[in-house]
Amino acid sequence: MTEALLDVRNLHKSFGALKATDDVSITLRKGEIHALIGPNGAGKSTLIKQIAGGLRSDSGTVHFAGQDVTPLSTVQRARAGLGRTFQISSLAMEYTVLQNAVLGALGQSGRVMRFFAPVMRQAELRDEAMRALELVGLAEHASKRTADLSHGQRRQLEVAVVLTLRPKVFLMDEPMAGLGASGSKEMTGFLDTLRAEAPILLVEHDMDAVFALADRISVLVYGQIIASGTAAEIKADPQVRVAYLGE
Ligand code: ADP
Ligand code: MG
Repeated sequence: MTEALLDVRNLHKSFGALKATDDVSITLRKGEIHALIGPNGAGKSTLIKQIAGGLRSDSGTVHFAGQDVTPLSTVQRARAGLGRTFQISSLAMEYTVLQNAVLGALGQSGRVMRFFAPVMRQAELRDEAMRALELVGLAEHASKRTADLSHGQRRQLEVAVVLTLRPKVFLMDEPMAGLGASGSKEMTGFLDTLRAEAPILLVEHDMDAVFALADRISVLVYGQIIASGTAAEIKADPQVRVAYLGE
């Protein structure tokens, strides 16, 4: 068994009396896609935020690439290589595709940096941005206005923005949301190629995508992981069938 790149241990987060995550442990290994599924309100987004650092955990730890990143901020975790894509688009629609990618390369939260980036670095940033656009298949659209991209292409651009930070893992919260059948299929193919760049912790409702992509699946219900295994194991698990698949 390969050592886990991301090792999340015993995370808890309560909102008042509600235990959104209740002792969640999950790992992500090199090269894999680990899908996290579960009904609405199960705590999936909360968990992703706890791992990315945007939400402080009540207890538990996040180890990443051999380092305990629990005390680190979101920005520090992102710099360490935790690449998170957002459910809500952070793209500047009037900017070109390349400009958005360059802004990404400047550091997603480096607002000060954006104004003081040394001129010397500009060619380097552009190269980094172009590399990311090539990886997501948007290089030929580099000079297009972002607003003129399709919904699916914008998702890919969001991934490119994260890619400019050279992430060691991806945390994705419902990348298929709102894409429609053909868009989801395209995104599925895209994520399948992206796993070569970095493993993916994938929160997703689209079960076709999950079963096509995931090496492992964990099922979160009421803040607790009730099952974890391969697609075949998850499909056959009676507890999962009752709690989630609605059988
Ligand atoms: P999922 O992504 O699985 O649909 P969430 O993690 O968004 O679930 O939410 C888990 C539970 O925590 C839900 O009951 C939700 O209403 C609650 N919750 C999430 N964020 C907050 C918050 N900031 N304040 C209060 N309750 C929250
Ligand atoms: Mg959610």
